[in-house]
Amino acid sequence: MYYTGVQQPARVTLLGVPIDALTQAEALARLENFLKDSGQKHVATPNNEMLVEAHRNARFRDVLQHTALNLPDSTGLLLMARLRGHRLPARVTGTDTMQKMLCALLDERHPVFFLGAAAGVAQRAAEELKKCNPRLTIAGTFSGSPRSEDAQEIIQKINDAQPHLLLVAFGAPAQDLWIAEHLHKLQSVRVAMGVGGAFDFVAGVQKRAPRFIRTLGLEWAWRFAHEPKRWRRMWKAVVVFPILCLGEMVRGG
Ligand code: UDP
Repeated sequence: MYYTGVQQPARVTLLGVPIDALTQAEALARLENFLKDSGQKHVATPNNEMLVEAHRNARFRDVLQHTALNLPDSTGLLLMARLRGHRLPARVTGTDTMQKMLCALLDERHPVFFLGAAAGVAQRAAEELKKCNPRLTIAGTFSGSPRSEDAQEIIQKINDAQPHLLLVAFGAPAQDLWIAEHLHKLQSVRVAMGVGGAFDFVAGVQKRAPRFIRTLGLEWAWRFAHEPKRWRRMWKAVVVFPILCLGEMVRGG
């Protein structure tokens, strides 16, 4: 399905999840507006595995159907959209968007909180990003966890820190389920974004694929080569996802 609304960029629906058809620059413009707006926005960065999970997990699908923005994080989404006769103009990754937003868009008016990843990684990622933008204001960092028994402590920390932007790196689907459940309790937060392994990349805990591999759409192969234990996720991304999309196409979905 392909539809266009007033002041809304086009969206392409794959496996029941609407994906925003925009370029990196357009995504940053939307985020800048979200930060100025009143109201709270949940931004997700769906990739192949996330759509497979959403296909099976009705709660996760519902969450992704109600976000303000779903950025097409993987090349597979572009390919499957194309096969269905629709166009997603660019791959817009969570990691790139986070880096560009923090390096170019943010200043003292919009403090940011880093939640998630292993102990110390969020702090290292924040320090690294501060190097590209001295005006970046770090409201706080906390590794935390997506477990419900830890939510109260996290909410308290975020409410004490008063950020406008909350970046959550708990992996999918946990990060987006966490945002959907708790965003309304975080009064200062205007934009909450699930960013997956982005803190690990920025902090240097994981090495990101070189640009030419990303351009070829082979970042998934690079990650598999460096983290073979992710084979189950790779299987979902490379085999299950296209099969589900083709099945949906054949059924006329
Ligand atoms: N993570 C976490 N708590 C958890 C599970 C994961 O903080 O209970 C973090 C993990 O340390 C990593 C991020 O979530 O920094 C997710 O990384 P992953 O590589 O799974 O994300 P992807 O980029 O593949 O979506």
